[in-house]
Amino acid sequence: MYISINKAAEILKGGGIVAIPTETVYGLAGNAFDETAVAKIFAAKERPFFDPLIVHIAEFGEIEELVAEIPKNAKILAEKFWPGPLTLVLPKKDKVPNLTTGGLSTVAVRMPKKQIARDIIKLAGFPLAAPSANMFQHLSPTSAEHVFEQLGGRIDGIVDGGACEVGIESTVIGFENETPIIYRPGGVAMEMIGHPVSFAATPLKEGNLISPGLLEKHYSPNTPLCLELPNEIPPNSGLLAFGKLPENSSRFAKILNLSENGNPIEAAVNLYGMLHKLDSCKLSKIFATLLPKAGLGNAINDRLLKARGTA
Ligand code: AMP
Ligand code: MG
Repeated sequence: MYISINKAAEILKGGGIVAIPTETVYGLAGNAFDETAVAKIFAAKERPFFDPLIVHIAEFGEIEELVAEIPKNAKILAEKFWPGPLTLVLPKKDKVPNLTTGGLSTVAVRMPKKQIARDIIKLAGFPLAAPSANMFQHLSPTSAEHVFEQLGGRIDGIVDGGACEVGIESTVIGFENETPIIYRPGGVAMEMIGHPVSFAATPLKEGNLISPGLLEKHYSPNTPLCLELPNEIPPNSGLLAFGKLPENSSRFAKILNLSENGNPIEAAVNLYGMLHKLDSCKLSKIFATLLPKAGLGNAINDRLLKARGTA
């Protein structure tokens, strides 16, 4: 199941699907131009076909094959944040299968920072469609073991590249004319973007889902997650803390702290791993509190709200 990058490239060239490490989370990769490979990704994850995939490239020039037109501001953002945790949604070329883009006329593109990910793309020789390597709506994987737990028997191999340095999915940005719009908060904090950007107010545009990552339930552990701390803590509860522990913390059966000194970057790195850990402890409930709304706090809060099930 665990394979080298050369073996991964060989499998990808043969139309197979493999999990690869990136700096955000592990991705389940296949040839973005091969509808059969892309269909295998959807099937393995049990992901609905309307939820489009992000296409990963190794060099900026590869965007030409995918994208019909690049708005000026998209280019500026790519220059500033690529390689890195930023995904740009741009008008697609006909060559990109509709299956890859969930039937949309746009394609989401990202150049990952993790060297192994770019090496695999280069060895394969084509861009890789790669959503997170987890079952649809479940917790995203930040280690090869997480991938194995959820997808072990369903995919052709896993490349173990160690832990993910960012730990949270990419920021997804689309454009209305030249105005960048954040479809999903992520690894690049809004404050870092420095452009006039706005959050997509609603996932719907003319009745259609503009960015399915805005679905209300996503990233969920199996154990129910609550985002308010009650005065009476129910028995066998777990706490996903951030910074200073609450006064009643001794009541929890298990506590993990995203960042003892309240650092949201450290919290992003720990988020999914700690949720996986708490989820495996057979707790009756997991409690967590939202982070201050700054920097990566916004992206972490987005994941916690969706993990709870009602954003
Ligand atoms: P994941 O691969 O699980 O990180 O999810 C990728 C997310 O990127 C999707 O759920 C969408 O929210 C977003 N996305 C991908 N392609 C597009 C697109 N063409 N238009 C809008 N959003 C997109
Ligand atoms: Mg995902």
